[in-house]
Parts: sequence; C-alpha cells; structure tokens
Amino acid sequence: MSLNIIVLAKQVPDTRNVGKDAMKEDGTINRAALPAIFNPEDLNALEQALRLKDANPGSTITLLTMGLPRASEIIREAIYRGADTGIVLTDRTLGGADTLATSYSLAQAVKKFGNYDIILGGRQAIDGDTAQVGPQIAEKLGLPQVTYAEEILDLKDGKVTVKRRLESGVETVVAPLPCVVTVNGSAAECRPRNARRIQKYKYAVSPSEKEKLSDDLKAVVEKRPYLNLQEWSAAYVDADPQQIGLAGSPTKVKAIENVVFTAKESRTIENNDTELEDLVKELIANHTIG
Ligand SMILES: Cc1cc2nc3c(=O)[nH]c(=O)nc-3n(C[C@H](O)[C@H](O)[C@H](O)COP(=O)(O)OP(=O)(O)OC[C@H]3O[C@@H](n4cnc5c(N)ncnc54)[C@H](O)[C@@H]3O)c2cc1C
Repeated sequence: MSLNIIVLAKQVPDTRNVGKDAMKEDGTINRAALPAIFNPEDLNALEQALRLKDANPGSTITLLTMGLPRASEIIREAIYRGADTGIVLTDRTLGGADTLATSYSLAQAVKKFGNYDIILGGRQAIDGDTAQVGPQIAEKLGLPQVTYAEEILDLKDGKVTVKRRLESGVETVVAPLPCVVTVNGSAAECRPRNARRIQKYKYAVSPSEKEKLSDDLKAVVEKRPYLNLQEWSAAYVDADPQQIGLAGSPTKVKAIENVVFTAKESRTIENNDTELEDLVKELIANHTIG
C-alpha cells in the first residue's frame, strides 16, 4: 500500500547554541546571530515517515513548512535524507502568527494538499516551545491525534498503531487514518543525509530561489520537475486574512524581560556524606528542593 505522508517541520533558530549575541537589547531573539536549523523533533518525525515509506514502497513524503522563503533549506535537508518534495507556505501576511494562526494557516495548506493518509510532526519546536501546533491542526481538520509518539509500530487496514512515551510509562494506541501524530525527541534519530541524494537534489529550489540562479542552472531546474519545490501563498491556500498573521493571533506579548539568575550566597561544604546529607535536608526543609 502506498501512502501519502505529510511531515510538518519548522526552521528554528538554534537555541541550544546560544552565544553572547543571541539576545538583542530589547530582549528579543537576535535571529541573525543564531544558525537556522531543522527543528530537532521534526527530524524524529521525518525518520518515522521514512520508515513508513521503506515499509510501503511507492509512498511519498512531502515536507510542509511555514516560514520565510529560506525555509526551503530544511526541505532540501529532508530530501537529502529521503523525503520526496516539499512546500514552503510563505507570505508577508503570515508574519507574527501565534500558534492559533500558525495552525490555521498550516491546516489550510493541508486542505489544499488534499489526498493524505497521515500527518507527522514534532512534539514541540525549540523556539516557540508550546507543543500546540500539531494538536491544533488535528482539531482544525477534525482528525484524530496521537501525541508523544515514540514509534509507529504498524500501519495497515486504515489504522496506525503507535507507541507513546509518557512520563508515567509507555502506552500503545491505535488510531484510524488519516490522523496527526506528533513525535517525541526520544524516538529514533533521523538517518543521515545520503551522498547520492545530495548530488541529485542540490539544486532543488523554490521559485524565489530559482530566480537567483544563473540562466544555465535555471534551465537545468526547468528540465527536471523533481528539482522544483513549491511555494504557496496565503491566498493560494484560501486563508481568511483575519485568521492569519498578527490579525489572527489573539496572543499579545505585553513585555519581554531578561531574567538573569545570580547566586545570592554560597557555602562551601566538605566532600563527605554527612555534610552532603545535612545540606540536602536543609534544602528540603526550606523548600528549595523537594
Ligand atoms: C504575538 C506573537 C508573535 C509572534 N511573532 C512571531 C514572528 O514574528 N516570527 C516568528 O518566527 N515567531 C513568532 N511567534 C512565535 C510563533 O507563534 C510560534 O513559533 C509558532 O506559532 C509555532 O509555535 P511553536 O513554535 O510553539 O510550535 P510547537 O507547537 O511547539 O510545534 C509543534 C510542531 O508543530 C509543527 N510546526 C510548528 N510550527 C511550524 C511551522 N511554522 N511550519 C511547519 N510546522 C510547524 C512542527 O512539527 C513542530 O515540531 C510569535 C508568537 C506570538 C505569541
């Protein structure tokens, strides 16, 4: 059985490698100072999609990302690892979106895409950190959702069996297709880039990137349909202007504060069990820990 798989992925600033220039004076993220990367848990989701494709020859994986035009970089990254193609949903009117507007816009793009069997995404993005977008997309599309997925165990007869990793343990659930599955960072790591695919797809470009190529390279891209990534606008996915971008975002950031943790006092203790135990007891008693 061949599947039509959508993988939701976000290009994020690498907040795990924060240097001294990472914040601007007003406390907002200095995106220019941080490398833009594939959101880590979206790579876990991509690996689950690739395993489904391996088990179901003829399946297609399409990466869907909403962001700036340069987000097509993560589509190439996914293609190098085995995805087939991708769509960048990009439009000035989408800027400033909170999770509600983001999930509405992505749900519109999924509707436009049409024929899909399963939508996979990461549990959470490392910049926004809300873990809301996947579940909200499921709600908006009226689809069942499986969150905290660690492994897709089986997919057959219109149903998917998923192992979920929860704080309290492991749970196995079955959901009817189509459905949305959000994948944890504890899931299998994504396979590396494939050298042959890098050679074949290094000029896979979106229309705005194609414009910047030399005439010779443009001709190469035009001759090979698989090198043409798609760029969709808000109007193309029939998005209601009142539900996208800032207009569609009820979350308002009132103020941003820099919080710097400093040690007020310090104490040196001897390196022995008694002193350590006394310190732990004291910290529990004054509710610092526990
Ligand atoms: C008022 C306000 C203004 C904001 N303005 C901006 C802004 O101008 N620029 C900006 O970059 N951010 C902005 N944000 C942050 C933005 O709202 C969130 O980054 C975005 O809504 C996604 O939420 P998240 O990062 O928490 O994703 P999560 O819910 O943590 O993501 C879960 C999963 O959903 C999928 N997903 C999430 N986002 C996308 C995406 N864009 N494309 C494809 N898949 C996705 C991925 O699979 C991801 O792993 C703003 C937020 C607020 C509240």
